[in-house]
Amino acid sequence: MCGIVGYIGNRNAVPILIEGIKRLEYRGYDSAGIAGISNNNLFCHKSVSKVVFLEEKVSKLDLDTNIGIVHTRWATHGEPSIDNAHPHVDCKGDIAIVHNGIIENYDLLKTHLESDGHVFASETDTEVLAHLIEKFFDIDGDFELAVRNALKHVVGAYGIAVINSKEPDKLIAAKNGSPIVVAIGKDEYFVASDVAPIIEHTKDVVYLDDNEMATITKDGYTTKTIDNVPTSKKVEEVMWDIDMIERDGYDHFMLKEIHEQPVSILNAMRGRFDHGNECLVKLGGLEGHEDVLAKFNRIVIIACGTSWHAGLIGEYMIEAFLRTPVEVEYASEFRYRNPVVDSETLVIAISQSGETADTLAGVKLAKEMHATVLGVCNVVGSSIARESDFGIYLHAGPEIGVASTKAFTSQITALYLLTLYIANLRNVTTLFNCNLVEALKAIPDQVASILKKENEIEALAELYKSSENFLYLGRGYNYPVALEGALKLKEISYIHAEGMPAAEMKHGPIALITKDMPVVFIAIQDAAYQKALGNIREVAARGGKVIAIGTEGDDSLKEKADHVFYIPKTIDMLTPLLSVIPLQLLAYKIAVMRECDVDMPRNLAKSVTVE
Ligand code: GLU
Repeated sequence: MCGIVGYIGNRNAVPILIEGIKRLEYRGYDSAGIAGISNNNLFCHKSVSKVVFLEEKVSKLDLDTNIGIVHTRWATHGEPSIDNAHPHVDCKGDIAIVHNGIIENYDLLKTHLESDGHVFASETDTEVLAHLIEKFFDIDGDFELAVRNALKHVVGAYGIAVINSKEPDKLIAAKNGSPIVVAIGKDEYFVASDVAPIIEHTKDVVYLDDNEMATITKDGYTTKTIDNVPTSKKVEEVMWDIDMIERDGYDHFMLKEIHEQPVSILNAMRGRFDHGNECLVKLGGLEGHEDVLAKFNRIVIIACGTSWHAGLIGEYMIEAFLRTPVEVEYASEFRYRNPVVDSETLVIAISQSGETADTLAGVKLAKEMHATVLGVCNVVGSSIARESDFGIYLHAGPEIGVASTKAFTSQITALYLLTLYIANLRNVTTLFNCNLVEALKAIPDQVASILKKENEIEALAELYKSSENFLYLGRGYNYPVALEGALKLKEISYIHAEGMPAAEMKHGPIALITKDMPVVFIAIQDAAYQKALGNIREVAARGGKVIAIGTEGDDSLKEKADHVFYIPKTIDMLTPLLSVIPLQLLAYKIAVMRECDVDMPRNLAKSVTVE
């Protein structure tokens, strides 16, 4: 999920790699490492925290090599540490690999490799690849074949670069899911996760496709599928400037992250279904705690901001399916109001960064009161992840835009998986069937189909960009989405917006409705649909402008609302994963039209580490 750079040529690779990886620092990372081959021996150096520490370390060693790989890691499996930092090496210390992504079946592979005598030095999923390549290299003595054979055994997402001191003139790169670009210089080649590190050396690049591998020497490169079918690649010229590259061509990180959601939601599920029975959820972080999870009789969810909205959706899911009482608390309130929490309570703490001060303080308080704490965080090894008894990581990749988008949908996905997981532990199996898992698996493509209609949202934004107030209304699972839509608009466009349960409107806020009040209504065909239609009529009767989010095929909605944006059908509890996407885009588009600083909205910080 973070950064890879590789080099092969006639120059000393070390300064090129260090400068190159610095160009990928914007992607966020927690540790870094470099490997190369000097006098037919592999060297490998790592540091936690910033690349400058790695630079300091290697500058003292006077390393000289014409081939090397470097990596910035954003931990998904195993906390940030020297041992877990990449590159990872095989048992003999000949092969070094850097990897971005997640190997879903790593535990199975690891068990096999360990029983073959391989010894592991880290907790990462990546390390299995180093040993797997070693295993096949020991059989055939052919580096390229070994990488190919290893990749055939892997399930998951990867962008990799590998070197082998036994074939020191070859750099091998491969891709499935995580990007890899090969750049062509004069008698030298580079590989990287994006073009930022290489545009100062060359503008000629080829982008690897999924399941494709490049074998590179300083004299040329070949590309093949991992099934050994040669592929022909078009050399493209990079035209973007460095700012554009960092945002992957998007105008803002927030827009990039909105568009990443099909992949980030998929990453939240990767490796989390049982290989033997794909309808069963398995959550590695909860393994060994099944007894506790099957027993508690009350859940308290603590969180702030967007995470709190995800928590509300979690409450609805868990209560509907598990029939266990759930309360959702603002962490700041929870910690100061002497809550009722005991050893029978499971406290779920949700925080993207894992550093949110109020949530962290809530976790500590819950533990003092003998509750069990389950953390739901994006950043591996973060304070909340460490303080919790166990947890679930989101694997959404670093979120850089201050207004959270992809973390929200990943949090909902994680809470859904948790609900299914606990239901299975408690034998609530009557409610569970493969349709629920199938519906979740369909979500990434459904999100992608919504994102294709960005222009429809742009047209709406154009119409309503000058409004000074907005209402967002939803019911059931979409009431928290209404809150989230309003929060996004407030955060980045500075327009006053309120979200509320649709039926509450008539108890007061209806007094605000005039022709100048746009009302965003989530009116999808779920259990509350008929009631939602009634609420729309109430707004329309008072002259309010209704922007409805409806279910594809619901043509009659067009007669009731001023505008309708359609989303695909899914099961009720998953609708927030779809209905929030147009609301994120609407807030973004309006903010851009109002010339607001979308990625760094005024007065806001990405990770709120003050109380
Ligand atoms: N899953 C790997 C790890 O946790 C790679 C993470 C990355 O993409 O940086 O080490």
